[in-house]
Amino acid sequence: MALQVWIDGTFYDKEHAKISVYDHGLLYGDGVFEGIRVYNGRIFECDAHMRRLFDSARGIRLTPSLSKEQIKAAMEETIRVNHFRDCYIRLLITRGIGCLGLNPNKCAQPSVIVIADTIELYPPEMYERGMSIITASVIRTHPNALSPRIKSMNYLNNILAKIEAVDAGVPEALMLNGEGNVAECTGDNIFMVRDGLVQTPATSDGILEGITRKVIIELCRRLAIPCVERSLQRHDFYVADECFLTGSAAEVVPVTRIDGRAIGNGHPGPVTRKLSEAFHRHVREG
Ligand code: PMP
Repeated sequence: MALQVWIDGTFYDKEHAKISVYDHGLLYGDGVFEGIRVYNGRIFECDAHMRRLFDSARGIRLTPSLSKEQIKAAMEETIRVNHFRDCYIRLLITRGIGCLGLNPNKCAQPSVIVIADTIELYPPEMYERGMSIITASVIRTHPNALSPRIKSMNYLNNILAKIEAVDAGVPEALMLNGEGNVAECTGDNIFMVRDGLVQTPATSDGILEGITRKVIIELCRRLAIPCVERSLQRHDFYVADECFLTGSAAEVVPVTRIDGRAIGNGHPGPVTRKLSEAFHRHVREG
């Protein structure tokens, strides 16, 4: 059976899962989304994802046509119909079908789309040996332009940085904010470790408040590993002992090189390994 995609209450075969060319999600990137993991048949951090989704929707003044419970039910049905135990869910709310003009008030009703599929963001050996990244020349969207806390369907800022990474032969790019502080990568949050202290850019530095980031901060607390959220500069990363990225799709991936410079001894470090193992235990045990 073909993979089934849920669109506004109906399942479609993957190849027939389509939306209107008049949907403002396509015309203007007007919509919000989530990327969510399912482990052992359970939607990981479902409440946190629903909260962020509805905050994002509110941030772009979009009122979802379904409640959090209805969306959760749609995700569970999509997992079940596709017989997944472990998968990745892409959940979207688009502004809906409108006219050829920006005004979102002319759109009839937002559309909800649930795609459940497998995902492999980076090759498995990068989790073992570590990843090289570069700093992008494009900065992360300024919070007064479009808050990076809104997970919107407008990812061009990140895509331009991603292209720089790919051109440089690496899978990810570090993005700075308007002040020159480190913000995050194109689809992942970033952490560093120095002298046993885990550090990650603060929300006020213009980042998406990653759900994996939040879980890692909580795991640090449980494991009695000191962890702080603060403004960090590229230099802090250059002189760090360890660095790693977090994201729902990426999970926890060690970074061993930034802008051609080895981080620490150029190999994944012990704190990264410990947190990665704790993360994988946590997602399975709940
Ligand atoms: N930053 C950006 C820009 C992202 O798109 C994502 C999600 N892919 C993240 C960080 C990580 O967030 P989460 O842990 O909630 O997936």
